[in-house]
Amino acid sequence: MKRSFVLLTILCMLAFTYAHAQQLDLILRNGTVVDGSGSPGVKTDIGITGDRIVFVGPAGKQTAKRTIDATGLIVTPGFIDPHTHTAADLSNPKRAQNAPYLMQGVTTVATGNDGGSPTHIGETLAKWNKQGIGTNAVLFIGQGTVRSEVMGMSDGKPTPAQIDRMKTLVDTAMNEGAIGLSTGLYYAPGSYSSTEEVIELAKVAAAHHGIYDTHMRDESSYNIGLIAAVRETIRIGQEAHLPVMISHIKALGADVWGQSTEVIDIINAARKAGVDVVASQYPYTASGTSVVAALVPRWAEADGKLVQNLHDPALHEKLVAEMTENLHRRGGAETLLMTSSKDKTIIGKTLAQIATERKESPVEAAIEISANGDSSVASFNMKESDIEAFMRQPWVMTCSDGSSGHPRKYGTFPRKIHQYVYQEHIISLETAVHSSTQLTAQTLQLKDRGLLKAGYFADVLVFDPKTYNERATYEEPELLATGVRFLTVNGKLAIDNGELTTVMAGKALGH
Ligand SMILES: [Zn+2]
Repeated sequence: MKRSFVLLTILCMLAFTYAHAQQLDLILRNGTVVDGSGSPGVKTDIGITGDRIVFVGPAGKQTAKRTIDATGLIVTPGFIDPHTHTAADLSNPKRAQNAPYLMQGVTTVATGNDGGSPTHIGETLAKWNKQGIGTNAVLFIGQGTVRSEVMGMSDGKPTPAQIDRMKTLVDTAMNEGAIGLSTGLYYAPGSYSSTEEVIELAKVAAAHHGIYDTHMRDESSYNIGLIAAVRETIRIGQEAHLPVMISHIKALGADVWGQSTEVIDIINAARKAGVDVVASQYPYTASGTSVVAALVPRWAEADGKLVQNLHDPALHEKLVAEMTENLHRRGGAETLLMTSSKDKTIIGKTLAQIATERKESPVEAAIEISANGDSSVASFNMKESDIEAFMRQPWVMTCSDGSSGHPRKYGTFPRKIHQYVYQEHIISLETAVHSSTQLTAQTLQLKDRGLLKAGYFADVLVFDPKTYNERATYEEPELLATGVRFLTVNGKLAIDNGELTTVMAGKALGH
């Protein structure tokens, strides 16, 4: 009697468990599943329950609360962007949904790159979780942010006490959930830091198993040159003992066009020697920067005296000479397109057009724009052959580096697949997906993301290969992409039948 009761109880529990296992939330049927690993796509199904993928394979007779027919569609892991400028958007309830990214199929963004981040990492992550965000997000602690906390915009060498103070700030940020240290050594104040100074701080990130992300000191021929900047990055990885990510790798300007070959050789050799070096890239021939960053020498920005220096007659000749050289490096005044500025009359014009209208030299016009609050620019300075050479490397991820005024914030991920996979056949779909998913998840050390695999988080993208493309242009950089049919973030539909929902299913992820 007693034994049969026990048996019955066990049978009931098994039946309940079995029935419960069938209570899937969502089944995606018949899609071409490109799982992120780089292996060939297969036609199959995916089951999701809660925030996790339950299975990838034939669903058979299993049912779910919602079934989506993905016939003719591509199913991939949600894309992961290792370099964005979304921190302000995510903190603003009106923009926290991160629609420009969701509409590209991006489910996780990193931000705090280029050496600039929120000062308080823990507070920011907590705020995002409390207020709600549309994509998942991780944060770097910026070396420029840390340096200016301690030294302002000084171009001097830090004292041992200042170094200690900076190390403490990095340590605190890492404890609070930063995934690593970012630098912008091309920009002030990062440009004022020696390699040794950066290594000291990178060692602190390394002690927390973080990574090093860099906008390198030079992507062109401004100071040490592209090749030396790559070597500096590798040295930082070697001496601080941590993985390094070269952000938005490129050969900027005619002086260094073609140097992608040498850069690739150096990185491959370093990787062979055991240094963990990867890079990210956006698929555009124009970079996005500002007139000051592109043309004004860094010494003119020191100690916050930019406007004063720009107007100083004693410095004028030196300034014009150096800016003329920088303008030449960029490719001339026709290659700089104003994309957003306080002065609305210059938007949509090239520096050449502005100079002609004002009847002055391009450098004089650039000085005025710089002194008058600066302007964002799209700077057409890259060669397609370098872009393609970098894109083919198995260690190059997709990143948007999205910033206002450049279509890359709204179009990077679909553009890469539409243009470089479907139109020009530079890389395969599987490679493009891998470079936007698993490779990035591994680099950023995201647990259980970046693959379509049982047990992984259900960040899943379903797009239509016929319509998946960017719409944003340099003239209209804020047009949302098309072709994403469905997108789940942590199992919840952020895009349903091509339309954004109001769900804010993203999580601020710690380290
Ligand atoms: Zn950058």
